[in-house]
Amino acid sequence: MARTKVCKVCKRDFNPMRSMQAVCGPRCAIQHNAKAREKSARKALRKRKEALKTKADWMKEAQAAFNAYIRARDYGKPCISCGCYEQDRFTGGHFDCGHYRSRGAAAHLRFNVFNAHGQCKRCNRELSGNVVEYRLRLTERYGPELVQRIEHDNGARTFDAQYAKRVKAVFSRKARIYKKIFRSSL
Ligand SMILES: [Zn+2]
Ligand SMILES: [Zn+2]
Repeated sequence: MARTKVCKVCKRDFNPMRSMQAVCGPRCAIQHNAKAREKSARKALRKRKEALKTKADWMKEAQAAFNAYIRARDYGKPCISCGCYEQDRFTGGHFDCGHYRSRGAAAHLRFNVFNAHGQCKRCNRELSGNVVEYRLRLTERYGPELVQRIEHDNGARTFDAQYAKRVKAVFSRKARIYKKIFRSSL
């Protein structure tokens, strides 16, 4: 005896004739198939676009995802350098993701979560990272050992396109989790 199912298209109950049947009848089947074709076309397009991306593209997207994650993680916390609280929600309005050792000087730490924090735009841009103050609060937050470890980390690391792609995926997912937490707490 077949159990009643809900049609994927019209959402009405129906009694399937076959176990794999997803829609109630031919009218809904046409719509269902059209949707499936659209979906696979979108997927194919996305794949073609991704195939055209260079390593530089992936690195840029990975950095944007990482920075957005840092801003979400440090939402509600004070600026890592001056201690001010001037920040907007996840837009990056007044807060930047500020790297302690800059991406220029220490490119291998560009995706290191201990090397990057929510920082006000004044400290990040006008005061070039406000590094002396950054160091004080970084030490307060994690203790001197970790700060020294960051300062002495000169291990050369190269990131390939695959790695950047993974970084993007991982930090996008992590940022979504933080955004969910903060939204539900408001
Ligand atoms: Zn239907
Ligand atoms: Zn600041």
